[in-house]
Amino acid sequence: MQIGFIGLGSMGTGMALNLVKAGHDVRAWNRSKLDPDMVPGVTLVESAAEAFQAHTVFTMLSDDPAIREVILDAGLLKGARLGLTHVVTSTISVAFARELAALHEAAGIGYVSAPVLGRPNVAASGQLNILAAGKPDAVAAVEPILAPLSKKVWKLGEDPARANTAKLACNMMIAMAIEAMAEAVVLTEGVGLDRANFFELILGTLFSGRAYESYSAQITERSFEPGFKAKLALKDMRLAIEAGNDLGHMLPMLEIVRERLGQAVGEGHGEKDWSIIAEIAVRGDREAALSGRNAENMR
Ligand code: NAP
Repeated sequence: MQIGFIGLGSMGTGMALNLVKAGHDVRAWNRSKLDPDMVPGVTLVESAAEAFQAHTVFTMLSDDPAIREVILDAGLLKGARLGLTHVVTSTISVAFARELAALHEAAGIGYVSAPVLGRPNVAASGQLNILAAGKPDAVAAVEPILAPLSKKVWKLGEDPARANTAKLACNMMIAMAIEAMAEAVVLTEGVGLDRANFFELILGTLFSGRAYESYSAQITERSFEPGFKAKLALKDMRLAIEAGNDLGHMLPMLEIVRERLGQAVGEGHGEKDWSIIAEIAVRGDREAALSGRNAENMR
């Protein structure tokens, strides 16, 4: 099947390669020029409009403004092929997902919100968990295409907001887990307990989940290669706060991790893995924490 792919970043590259492996004809566009040897089997096209001329199109751009610019402002919905389904796998705001769903419906194009759980290595190994929501016929049309990308497709209903909100809630919980582990390190290292030993204890007793396993290893090794960039995580915390505000709720733990990420980005760590916030928490720098809050408030 002919599949368009827009955005070959850390996540998109592995996903596009898995679509090729599954036997699809993948025509992909990325803003920056890519070495074709990095994406064997993928046909690199000159414009997003060319990639959009397919049976199914994936978009894995970084955020709402990028999708607005590349898809909406460029008028791609108007010239789309009859029967096209557009699968947006980026982590975007709930409001924008609803706007996209309405605009696609008006243009007669299928739309599926399909944000993903899993880091770039998981995307490359075709083991993502995909949170899918959209009209049943659109979801059914893309389900077989999502199969080689994923361990499981979680079908969350017709309202795209369900998938996008669930994704934001997941990232919020991971950031809180990183913060919780870092604060536990502050206490236990304070009495001379090695962090690797402490994490062995909590993984073997109270918290044996995947997020704890993977991020405790990064905190122990103090290794912050992305992964998931802190600047994108800050975007997600902001979107989660917006989603909470729309529901009339304050989420105080979320405010704390948003501040940590604001501080990390403010200190120039935006391209590092988001687990860098553990370093900041362990450092325990109160003034810098406040400057993180101020930096984020000024955005
Ligand atoms: P990334 O490596 O930074 O890639 C971002 C992609 O968006 C690149 O292709 C970039 O093009 C493109 N882009 C950004 N702004 C653009 C613009 N204005 N116009 C055109 N293209 C633009 O990010 P990623 O880690 O792949 O993340 C992509 C999405 O997946 C994000 O929404 C993120 O929140 C979500 N996500 C990430 C992870 C993770 O662990 N990394 C996991 C789950 C979900 P260039 O190459 O030209 O910069």
